[in-house]
Amino acid sequence: MQKIFILAFWFCSVSCFLYSDETLLKREMMESETVKKPEYLYKVLSYRHWQATEHRKTVTLSAEDDAFIHLSTEEQLDRIISKYWSTVLQFVVLKLATDKLEGELKYEANLGGSTKYYHLYQGFIPFRSIVEAKIMFGSPSAVCQEVLEVVQLGDPVLREPARELSKEEILSPEIQRLIEEMKGTMRAAPGVGLAAPQIGRALQLIVIEDMDHTHLTTEQISEREREKVPFHVVINPRMEIEEQEKVAFFEGCLSVPELIGIVPRAKSVKVQCLNERAEPVFIEAKGWYARILQHEIDHLNATLYIDRVILPTLMTEGNYMKQWKKKTIKEILKH
Ligand code: ZN
Repeated sequence: MQKIFILAFWFCSVSCFLYSDETLLKREMMESETVKKPEYLYKVLSYRHWQATEHRKTVTLSAEDDAFIHLSTEEQLDRIISKYWSTVLQFVVLKLATDKLEGELKYEANLGGSTKYYHLYQGFIPFRSIVEAKIMFGSPSAVCQEVLEVVQLGDPVLREPARELSKEEILSPEIQRLIEEMKGTMRAAPGVGLAAPQIGRALQLIVIEDMDHTHLTTEQISEREREKVPFHVVINPRMEIEEQEKVAFFEGCLSVPELIGIVPRAKSVKVQCLNERAEPVFIEAKGWYARILQHEIDHLNATLYIDRVILPTLMTEGNYMKQWKKKTIKEILKH
């Protein structure tokens, strides 16, 4: 098993995890002042998306920036990082020249909140707007753990059916450690699910967690039927499709980098499995959670989403952001 050990070191000059009274005060002052566009705004993105930006003229962003691009001021940066990024192993902070950004900039409160942020509508982040890019690392606990290498398309293990685990194996220190490492790897990616074949082990073992929806709009959350799913482990699953009716949405996979495509999936499923204590568990899932389970259980059966994708919709994340993100699934399927 190959492992990447990431060393803890800091490029950053900002103090990432301290949220001082001074910062609070500055923010409050800024909110009460007549808004003057700051010279610089900041964008935090995953290391994976930063890597995908290479050789492009605009910054590759995640689907979370679908409706508009979330930006923050220097004063907001510490808070954003400690709230959303401190458990992520590696991420990138971009300092951007505001006048070089493309799109319509609005200073507004998020739905249900009172703190105002800068949102860039119908726009993109041109490479020439980047003044500085800092690679940063999450909290010491996130940094100190070992992160497993996620195997990529073409690795034979992705096409090998995974074997069941016995109760003794599940409770063994080796599998308990593997579960912790898979949790760290999934969070570092970041992803909402990871199956053991993806880290090179043909075992019927999956980790799932879908808690952070802060960057999705209320519309996106409701159309995807995305509900918060706390961290849990799925071992030796047996799945039953509950509702045959299928829903189509874009899907990606950590083992198929940079690509996404529309995949029809059953609306709801029932899964019988064991948890990390080898106890039987019964799951009834619908919406996005049902999609995650189907995608991950497919991995155990040597199936990838690209086997089920509506082929003409398979595209790079970059082209999705540039050309398709504003279209509905129906419109894209009509093309
Ligand atoms: Zn996958």
